[in-house]
Amino acid sequence: MTDSRTPGFTTQIVHADRRATVEHGAIHKPIHTSVQYGFERVEDLIAVFQGTAKGGFNYARQGTPTTGALEAKLTQMEQGVGTITFATGMAGICAIFLTLLKAGDHLVASRFVFGNTNSVFGTLADLGISVTTVDATDAAQVAAAVQPNTRMVFVETIANPGTQIADLEGIGQLCRDKGLLYVVDNTVGSPYLFKPARVGAGLVVHSLTKSIGGHGNALGGSVTDTGMFDWASYPNIFPAYRKGDTKGWGLQQIRKKGLRDMGGTLSSTAAHQIAAGAETLALRMDRTSATALALAQWLEQHPAIARVHYPMLPSHPQHARAKQHFKAGSWLLSFELKNADDCLGLCNRLQLPVKATGLADTRTLIIPVAHTIFWEAGPEVRASMGIGDSLIRLSVGLEEAEDLIADFAQALG
Ligand SMILES: *Cc1c(COP(=O)(O)O)cnc(C)c1O
Repeated sequence: MTDSRTPGFTTQIVHADRRATVEHGAIHKPIHTSVQYGFERVEDLIAVFQGTAKGGFNYARQGTPTTGALEAKLTQMEQGVGTITFATGMAGICAIFLTLLKAGDHLVASRFVFGNTNSVFGTLADLGISVTTVDATDAAQVAAAVQPNTRMVFVETIANPGTQIADLEGIGQLCRDKGLLYVVDNTVGSPYLFKPARVGAGLVVHSLTKSIGGHGNALGGSVTDTGMFDWASYPNIFPAYRKGDTKGWGLQQIRKKGLRDMGGTLSSTAAHQIAAGAETLALRMDRTSATALALAQWLEQHPAIARVHYPMLPSHPQHARAKQHFKAGSWLLSFELKNADDCLGLCNRLQLPVKATGLADTRTLIIPVAHTIFWEAGPEVRASMGIGDSLIRLSVGLEEAEDLIADFAQALG
């Protein structure tokens, strides 16, 4: 750029790869399948092992040039200082908890989180890491749960399936005041709609399987360090990783302990697919957010519908917060029927939405929540999370809004 303008989100993302040398002038980063990386001089191999070489690869469990290129793209998207990719979003989330918390520590987490993340909280408790879940739409509830041994606060941006929005700013302020590590799962928000660094998040986690990959054909996860957390003050960094710029300490530990030791590595093939999807993130988020809003508005006025959960509806409890922080409302919406008994019937009468679990595919996906993804959680957990028996979740795809609305019109009768 010749003037001082900052290029837009998509301009930056689609041109970022070319800033460094790409093999043979390839426009898209190639898929590197080599597991081993060799060197002319043994000193260069040693430098990669000891971390004194800038970049460099030795064994693909710790990353390849292809995963590295995706990591650079994600760092830019979240305006962070570094990123580590993982085989799945859950591998990234577990790497954070298992490498940065130890027995005797305490975690405060939102009650409104992805079901499998909630399941991990039970595993942490068995390992001696206590977890308190609270209604994180209210920072005061988070503050009330903080104990002397609290190390971390974990929330999602737009919670699945209820679309609750945590008090992102209030919790950021609390974490700053108390020196707590603030971890935000931005899977549903996506860095195009919202950047958690703006509210002081230290780590941002993504299921790349969802918004960023966007095509339902590759699993992946990532952890980005925003550079906002002071790792020098964090007691659980091992001496081996208290080296170099303090800004790098957290990711050094997560890469060595969470990726190298635990082995949940993203494949180069998946990284390549996710990188291609990432280039159209803004286009897809604009499209699916507009469609989801149109559908949410249409459903809300339909006499058979009891309630619609979508952040950009004025009826949403955190609507003002959504307008303040998010460029648009994203692809996730859920609703409840007045006649709960028709929940499965409606799903079957719909022709376009695919009856499937999963989120942010190109196609619209529909699932009855209590019968499936929150079945194992049981009625008490469902009640505490506000998940009614007739709650239906939609992940809105790229279809034309009119076609989806017409389908709902015929299915609702
Ligand atoms: C899907 C999802 C995850 C887990 O990601 P996977 O890639 O499926 O392992 C974590 N958090 C949220 C909010 C998700 O939607």
